[in-house]
Amino acid sequence: MNKTIFEKIAAREIPADIVYEDDLVVAFKDIHPQAPTHVLLVPRKPIPRINEATTEDQALLGHLLLKAAEVARRLGLDQRGYRLVINNGAEGGESVPHLHCHILGGRHMRWPPG
Ligand code: 5GP
Repeated sequence: MNKTIFEKIAAREIPADIVYEDDLVVAFKDIHPQAPTHVLLVPRKPIPRINEATTEDQALLGHLLLKAAEVARRLGLDQRGYRLVINNGAEGGESVPHLHCHILGGRHMRWPPG
């Protein structure tokens, strides 16, 4: 299967502004930021979307969420607050079929989301 753009970023085959990485996940700045801070956190494993995750991925998903909070702290977002977003499928607003968690901060987030 062809690699997704996020697999290529994680493998450093195409450039991105990487802000955190470990054996399991990579975080990099979104190319079209929707907030003053907008980072994407992706598992190295190419799970297409949360709907396709299985119980095999339980530890990885826990790691992803804990790292999202750690990356947000490292970026100085934790005091004022931030938002984590996972889009799933067409109506969910997903455009890249590789599971990713948006970390958004630096402005007040509205609710409900658009
Ligand atoms: P989705 O709409 O699937 O939830 O989010 C995909 C995100 O990936 C979008 O916010 C989009 O701006 C970002 N994105 C798409 N292609 C690239 C790329 O090549 N590099 C980076 N850094 N971000 C990308």
